[in-house]
Amino acid sequence: MADDKTKVEAEITAKPDENACVSGPLAEGAITLEPLLTLENVSKEFLMNDGSTFVALKDLSLTIRDIKNKPQVVSLLGPSGSGKTTALRIIAALDQPSSGCVTITNGKGMRPVKVGDVGVVFQRYPLFEDLTVLDNLIVPAMRASMSKEDARAKAARYLDEFDLVTQGLAWPVQLSGGQRQRVAILQQLMKERHFIILDEPFSGLDPVNIISVINLISRIAHEHTLNTFIIITHDVTSALIISDHVYLLGRERDDKGKPIQGGRIMKEYDLIAEGLAYQPNIEELPRFAAIRKAIRMVEFPKL
Ligand code: ADP
Ligand code: MG
Repeated sequence: MADDKTKVEAEITAKPDENACVSGPLAEGAITLEPLLTLENVSKEFLMNDGSTFVALKDLSLTIRDIKNKPQVVSLLGPSGSGKTTALRIIAALDQPSSGCVTITNGKGMRPVKVGDVGVVFQRYPLFEDLTVLDNLIVPAMRASMSKEDARAKAARYLDEFDLVTQGLAWPVQLSGGQRQRVAILQQLMKERHFIILDEPFSGLDPVNIISVINLISRIAHEHTLNTFIIITHDVTSALIISDHVYLLGRERDDKGKPIQGGRIMKEYDLIAEGLAYQPNIEELPRFAAIRKAIRMVEFPKL
């Protein structure tokens, strides 16, 4: 017993190659380390024009922990109106919660999240339309105090890795939807940070492009074990394919089946414990179909 405990502790503290991610499923399940980002009882109320208040989020709590040898890819999955975008803005510190707080690691402990800690990839991928693709990557990184040489080198590497070399001197308006999305994601990655939140990255894409963005996100996430991607989506299948944890956002219903105000976490799925995370053939596994069906019954009854 004591030996086992010592062994686990030694594994947790060992740091020979601490940034490396291993490929494929985790043979012995996940070893989780310290928290990276937490939401503690986050609620959000909006004051409406008629003077009433509208509860968009109610007591959202979740903790994203560092998974040893893996990045963290978490989905907030819910139907339209369940408060996903509201949650995104609060997680990225673009809005303040009415109560509760969001904290993020500073490497030693947790502190309240600040603007810029979490890179945001907005829906429809806004870019600087008057800058070339290359400058869309370089300029924001330099504003975040990266040297011009470093920014150029990193941008060139990304354009090469993600199949955008010929688009380097193009204007955003000349990009396809998929290319624009890649540039918007890479733009957030140019800054030296590990936290990225994406709003509906699969919406408006055809099935082939959905697979390619799933692969892209997964590939970039795997570049560093501290990389933490939060995916905001209503796409059940994509959320299950890409994530290690899924938080199902929804609203309680009254006696007549009408949703009550206040998006909350209805259920959490630990897809590592379920044996589904990191599986290339996840869609063929019976458990995948069972969970997908259960989610649809709860929150997407019409799908
Ligand atoms: P989702 O992204 O899941 O579709 P949102 O977070 O955009 O949901 O919205 C959740 C609810 O909060 C919706 O009913 C929306 O109308 C309301 N809401 C969002 N932002 C505001 C705001 N600034 N003022 C008032 N109501 C808002
Ligand atoms: Mg939204």
